[in-house]
Amino acid sequence: MHNALGLMLASVGAAVVIAAVWFWTSSPRADSAVAATAPPAERLAATASAKPAPTSEDVEVTATSPAKPPVPPQPKTACANPDALGVSRVVEIDTTGGPGFGFAHFKQLDFLTDKEIVLTFDDGPWPINTPSVLKSLADECTKAVFFPIGKHASYHPEILKQVAAAGHSVGAHTWSHANLNSKKMDEQQARDEIEKGFSAVKLAMDAAPSPFFRFPQLQHGPAAMAYLGSRNVAIFSCDVDSFDFKAKDATQIINSVMTKLEKSGKGIILMHDFQRHTAEALPLLLRRLKAGGYKVVQMKAKAPLQTLADYDEGLVKDMRLPVASTRPVNNVVQTVSE
Ligand SMILES: [Zn+2]
Repeated sequence: MHNALGLMLASVGAAVVIAAVWFWTSSPRADSAVAATAPPAERLAATASAKPAPTSEDVEVTATSPAKPPVPPQPKTACANPDALGVSRVVEIDTTGGPGFGFAHFKQLDFLTDKEIVLTFDDGPWPINTPSVLKSLADECTKAVFFPIGKHASYHPEILKQVAAAGHSVGAHTWSHANLNSKKMDEQQARDEIEKGFSAVKLAMDAAPSPFFRFPQLQHGPAAMAYLGSRNVAIFSCDVDSFDFKAKDATQIINSVMTKLEKSGKGIILMHDFQRHTAEALPLLLRRLKAGGYKVVQMKAKAPLQTLADYDEGLVKDMRLPVASTRPVNNVVQTVSE
């Protein structure tokens, strides 16, 4: 009994001595002193300095630690209008070989489902009307495809920049809105119209256009079509032609589009941001499309078009004003009498 008690006391005593020695030799006294007396920030710093260099995993942990409350995920594009028409889906177009869209001329690629529509606008950019169309589209948080005329792009580059900045797809619609199916138009002239149009859009936007093209008056010249195929440019016809350029007012455009859509059930809608009545019709037309259950599909190109350097450079030369003298004005013009 005495022996057993003695052994137990001896064991406890040995354990206490071992623990005391371990504590004395291994305790990080300096660090614990800082931790105990320093304000919280310094304590954190001291702790951090003892850690190895942060890795990417550490950064992730820091980002979600309670010290920094996690930022709630933001929607990709904030829309202030909760009842907006919006964009139901975005499709990416591989334009290799020059695919054709719009059942008025091309029936191979049937990618829209019932009630799906694509909004397209030709002939801009133009003051007042194009900015008005952009505002209506922005109010409904929706996107379209624009086919500007090269000449118009060179007149109003700042407006075309706004179109691109709003996230719409921008293709081209020739340099001068020439009929590429006319007998007067030879193959080279048609190519010049196409390429100069794209180069003018690029020059105006300071960015490459989408390889999307629409023939003026929907006049599909066979040689020009083959050329566009070789340049990997998609050709856009339409399913619903608004004939907005012939409409006497906004109401007529709205009725025309809605009536045709009821028959086709879906499709690419052709309009003109160049036309005043179209700009006026758009706010109500977009509301009617929403009420009718139509859903906007946004068409985006898989890759931008590489414009041809010869046409890019030719345009810059054409637009440069001739310089007769580099002398400063007060060197040339002197007031001699007031
Ligand atoms: Zn046109």
